[in-house]
Amino acid sequence: MRIKPSIQARIRVPLSVVFFNASPSYMVSGPVYVWVIEGEEKIVVDTGIGLQAKYPSEGGGENGLRKALESEKIRPEDVEKLVITYLHFDHVGNVHLFHNAKIYVQKLEWKFAKDPIPIYRDLYVEEHVLSLEQMDLCLVKGEEEISPGVRLIQLPGHTPGLQGILVRAKSGEYLISSDHFYTYLNIFPPKQDLVLENESGKVTLTAQKTPFLPPGIHVDLSDWFESCYNALRFAKKSRIIPGHDPSLEGRTFD
Ligand SMILES: [Zn+2]
Repeated sequence: MRIKPSIQARIRVPLSVVFFNASPSYMVSGPVYVWVIEGEEKIVVDTGIGLQAKYPSEGGGENGLRKALESEKIRPEDVEKLVITYLHFDHVGNVHLFHNAKIYVQKLEWKFAKDPIPIYRDLYVEEHVLSLEQMDLCLVKGEEEISPGVRLIQLPGHTPGLQGILVRAKSGEYLISSDHFYTYLNIFPPKQDLVLENESGKVTLTAQKTPFLPPGIHVDLSDWFESCYNALRFAKKSRIIPGHDPSLEGRTFD
């Protein structure tokens, strides 16, 4: 079984979205991935950014999605199994194109997306919920094996119903964590001050004493930390794959 992330768009967000307590005025850009899990069958994970996005983005939309899946010779209308890790706008755009797929979403995420707390309302797009309502939606409660060696697990905290995907590869178990961890720095926080530099200038990400670095967006930090430890029951830290890390471009996990 192998896992392949493919870039569908690029997005610019404040650093404070990615890291708890980081600068809200320093902008960073990162890739938006769609994923293909290839084993006995091909499973697509997430569908990228659609036409509406809360943050400035490049690429994306239907063209970005088709291009991202083309390298795996996949057309959205031929996909039979689709996992949406959670329902933020950059993970479920273009979902209406997958009209022949069984679509897996956690029930708690589905409920939250229909009535998000006001501060996070603009991270959800009503049109996505309305599309899903008309589709072959499979609401999952917690853990579920959807194909031999492919298991969904709930990782609440960033949102109530974010799900990760455990994939049994040749070399062992991987966890696609989606945005429970945006980047490897959320999984492995810097032990010394780290200077980041891009066209916005320089900023320091301060050294962390915590074992994991939470994202700036979260509905419950206690749940978030508990989900980190829960994830370690299934996969080693080094085998967790974050949601938006730039270093994933071009990689294959098998
Ligand atoms: Zn995301």
